[in-house]
Amino acid sequence: MSKANETATTNDGDNHAFQADTAKLLHLLIHSVYSDKDIFLRELVSNAADACDKLRYQAIAKPDLLAGDTDLKVIVTLDKENKRISVADNGIGMGKAELVANLGTIARSGTRAFVDKLKEANDGNNLIGQFGVGFYSAFMVADQIEVFSVAAGSKSAWCWQSDGEQSFTVSPVKKSDAHWRARGTEINLHISQDGADYLDVNRMRAIMETYSSHIAVPVFLVEIKDGETGEPMQVGDATAIWMRPKKDIKDTEYKDFYGQVSGQYEDPLATIHYRAEGRQEYSVLAFLPASQPFDLFDPARKSRLKLYVRRVFITDEADILPSYLRFVRGIIDSEDLPLNINREMLQQNPLLAAIGTGVAKRVLKEIGDIAKNDSEKFETFWDAFGPVLKEGLYEDLAKRDELFELTRFKTSSSKDKWRSLKDYVADMKDKQAAIYYMTGTDAARLENSPQLEGYRARGIEVLLLSDPVDSFWVVTALGFDGKPFKSVTQGGEDLDEIEAVEDKTDADKSAPELAKLLTRFKEILGDVVVAVNKSTRLTDSVSCLVAPAEGPDRSLEKILARQSGEDVDSAPVLEINPTHPLILELAEKIGQADGIAPELAEDMAWLLFDQARIADGEAPHDPAAFSQRFSRRIAENLKS
Ligand code: ADP
Repeated sequence: MSKANETATTNDGDNHAFQADTAKLLHLLIHSVYSDKDIFLRELVSNAADACDKLRYQAIAKPDLLAGDTDLKVIVTLDKENKRISVADNGIGMGKAELVANLGTIARSGTRAFVDKLKEANDGNNLIGQFGVGFYSAFMVADQIEVFSVAAGSKSAWCWQSDGEQSFTVSPVKKSDAHWRARGTEINLHISQDGADYLDVNRMRAIMETYSSHIAVPVFLVEIKDGETGEPMQVGDATAIWMRPKKDIKDTEYKDFYGQVSGQYEDPLATIHYRAEGRQEYSVLAFLPASQPFDLFDPARKSRLKLYVRRVFITDEADILPSYLRFVRGIIDSEDLPLNINREMLQQNPLLAAIGTGVAKRVLKEIGDIAKNDSEKFETFWDAFGPVLKEGLYEDLAKRDELFELTRFKTSSSKDKWRSLKDYVADMKDKQAAIYYMTGTDAARLENSPQLEGYRARGIEVLLLSDPVDSFWVVTALGFDGKPFKSVTQGGEDLDEIEAVEDKTDADKSAPELAKLLTRFKEILGDVVVAVNKSTRLTDSVSCLVAPAEGPDRSLEKILARQSGEDVDSAPVLEINPTHPLILELAEKIGQADGIAPELAEDMAWLLFDQARIADGEAPHDPAAFSQRFSRRIAENLKS
């Protein structure tokens, strides 16, 4: 490229406004004080290398696309005098529609997610540090950008041009124009005051060494000085990082590669780099991220590992790992798969399935090692990915026991520190036969559930399961270490059999009255409850709801009802605390000659039922009736 032709041929182009979100994002990017502007170069060079990768892949089926130009490369040109930096490639290129779609809108899920988060957070600076914003980052150093591009196989060249404010234009480039090219893309940056430092050739070279040394396409730096174009200097050796021996790779190179495959700027939590040999040969360079990627809970639950075959990029949509390991980022490069493999057929390929199994095994081993050797790191991992890994507990039965070893829980006796099932089992009571759990959607409410009181009073630990996935695996799991899982919200549990608590009241003396009272309550509540029983799981609260001994878990039922939109509310058991003063009082009253007034009995039965519903996070059975009863009883109380 020479310094000629500053303005290119964009005067008569179509004018397009950026999508509102894009304009906002650009503004934020350019005007936020972002310390690491260097990344613009990484984004542009890796886009250019990707474009070469894509062409190489498409040329397997259509060799004509290469049109004799098989020497795929990226050239960064620096022209200090004219304050220009350009990044050019002879890769796949873009036609007019692609220029508009790729550079003018934020159809890309990454950018869209970024903008959504931005709206939520109202603070862009932190977020920019976390997400890659790709091409747009070039506006941090340029006040005007032109993108000249020709799609492989096409004869027309287009120029996209913008100052990064509100709009961009796309116009045709004539063959006589100095920027006309046979194929590929040239990104031409008019460097602003903010980017002036990048016009120094040594600085550029140093940055490129860091960012380009792992790129599998040759990258060159060219300097234009006194109007003369210098010799291209190759930066890095174009050897894919994963093919290099581990001992030669610096941490910064791993980190940078991680940034490129994940779009995140933080350090990875762990790096897994190895070469499998034997029946199948492949290299793996994979990372465990330190925080949740934005698309972790995307309904598609796709794994994002990139698949290469003998250094040629094939796809990042091959779903190589099971979806409960979808947070893993990185690449797999197979020596054995056929190069011309059809992307659609990949999923059924037994070689790929075997690679997936091998890599999943290795990833789980790495996670297991972290769990053993570095509890702090493991906690970071578990906080971010525990809910995802737990999906494997019901999706991958062959791995269930291994996954149970990794699974951590908050429990009724340990709400700040994670506990393993091994810890749990080691601390079980002598006569305790089951692993107790309680599920719900709100961790804080779970912890204060009345159903836990009796367990706490006896020192029996209860797993508090508040991730949506918990309700699914826990009902299908057979148990751990020979101990079944048992819900504390399920009826038919006599905790006194595990350990009797000392009863400071004379509740037993009023046993017949209590039985009478419970029968009365059941008559009043009718079919709304299956039964009204005396509870051993309450110590402070007066009542709670549990599922019948053989009934479905109440919180699973609620989750399923929410998902199906249907109201499946099967009748629960109302459990009553026989030692509660209110119950003792009522039992005494019922034993007396004149018994309990019907209205009082009715109010009490419903109030006990409704307050148990409220403790479970539900609305009273009949909210209007509830408030009337509530105020009536308080008024009565004030009178006496
Ligand atoms: P990302 O690379 O994360 O998708 P970018 O904003 O960097 O996001 O780029 C958006 C899209 O523009 C890319 O996905 C790609 O399709 C296209 N693109 C960018 N640079 C090039 C290039 N040099 N050659 C071909 N296509 C490109």
